[in-house]
Amino acid sequence: KFIAFEGGEGGGKSTQARLLVAALRAGGHDVVATREPGGTPGAETIRALLLGAAGDSDQPWGLRAEALLFAAARADHVEKLIRPALARGAWVVCDRYIDSSRAYQGGGGGLDDGDILTLHRIGSDGLLPDLTVLIEVSPEVAAARLAARDTGGTDRIGGRDTAYHARVGAAFAAMAEAEPERFARINGDGSPEATHRAVMAAVAGLLGP
Ligand code: C5P
Repeated sequence: KFIAFEGGEGGGKSTQARLLVAALRAGGHDVVATREPGGTPGAETIRALLLGAAGDSDQPWGLRAEALLFAAARADHVEKLIRPALARGAWVVCDRYIDSSRAYQGGGGGLDDGDILTLHRIGSDGLLPDLTVLIEVSPEVAAARLAARDTGGTDRIGGRDTAYHARVGAAFAAMAEAEPERFARINGDGSPEATHRAVMAAVAGLLGP
């Protein structure tokens, strides 16, 4: 089974992905925990190009180049890690996936959603998760969590304003509404433990009898 976590920055989705991985492993499952952009050596190289690892957190790429780099990173990740893991029957839990491209480069940046899906079809054969967990938090909670985590800008793409992030959140919500069978929308304003319980309830349907 393939589960992706999605949402804006500061929402706690990486924490939730970790908690789910630990719970699945405790249940005896073979789980591959991974993230985007990244997950393979090639895709991590592309991540460093995208996320200001050179110490400059301002976005150096044009929107189209940015979308192509994310698609290229995902192509490598799907081919070398995700597909082989699914083929051997493992669970894959991925922190961000195609819906981040649709929300950020599409909703935030303004690229056409159909074009982003076309890049995904070319790069990754259109592989979609069985379940996409969308963690949604209020802007105040996200801002407070981001303020508490100062990484010097090497894990974020900078140069984006509040309006951009509002469009990202709206795009995630619209995707979840359009595909309710694939998405579980979970409010992440509460404690990590409370959010984790909601995630486990959403995943229960994939666990089988
Ligand atoms: O997952 P995380 O929140 O750490 O994301 C790292 C950075 O990559 C963030 O700045 C996020 O906005 C950005 N990103 C993006 N487009 C994607 C995936 C991630 O702009 N498709």
